[in-house]
Amino acid sequence: MNLILLFEADFVSPQRVRLAGRRLQHVVSVHRACAGDELRVGLVNAQMGTGVITSLTSEALEMEVLLNQPPPPPLPVTLLLALPRPKSLKRVLQAATVMGAKRIVLMATWRVEKSFWDSPVLHPDALREQMVLGLEQARDTVLPEITLRRRFKPFAEDEVPDLARGTCGLLAHPPASQPCPRGVRGPVTLAVGPEGGFIPYEVELLQAHGFEAVSLGVRSLRVEHAVPALLASLF
Ligand code: SAH
Repeated sequence: MNLILLFEADFVSPQRVRLAGRRLQHVVSVHRACAGDELRVGLVNAQMGTGVITSLTSEALEMEVLLNQPPPPPLPVTLLLALPRPKSLKRVLQAATVMGAKRIVLMATWRVEKSFWDSPVLHPDALREQMVLGLEQARDTVLPEITLRRRFKPFAEDEVPDLARGTCGLLAHPPASQPCPRGVRGPVTLAVGPEGGFIPYEVELLQAHGFEAVSLGVRSLRVEHAVPALLASLF
């Protein structure tokens, strides 16, 4: 936790917050902080700054906070992610959040198992939990927006063209002959496949909408590793 993420509900007065639970435990056991210590804080979807501990007991921690710095710039990317299995989804969401992605579409593809859509990990609170962990790690405050698209064809045909307009559309595909570009300047729409990869029909449909298939090499990476590797290469 490199930043203590605050929520409106934490505020007991305009500049004072009261925290209990996980964040209190962390401050006590990891930061080993005492009254008077200064910690990095940030208000969700708003400014970041510092908090000075004014009281610390086993029940609660109070801080006087000053929020006067902007969060880091986001990555100009929209991730179109074939819904991974629940364990991977947690990891990939955290990783994408740490890297600064702010728009994520979890989509169906042929090789996405239908049962994944019933996972409790897709509950908004569970998605948020992973993104909060990512923001705390990266020192950011801006929660990514996640949308779910349970049918690939209508999504790819009706929404992707608008979504990808004016961006560089890329499709991560290990067998592609084109290497993943480096240091792209403008916005990117990046499609990442499921465990078994995209099927040819999906590759062709995205290519028909201007996406270029790119590869990081012949090694097949797990999606939770592929996403940060792709983002690190692109930006
Ligand atoms: N066996 C599958 C691998 C799927 S890995 C295949 O050959 O396509 C899951 C997803 O992660 C892939 O669909 C792709 O989007 C991304 N990925 C994994 N390894 C990659 C690599 N070396 N280059 C580009 N994308 C990769």
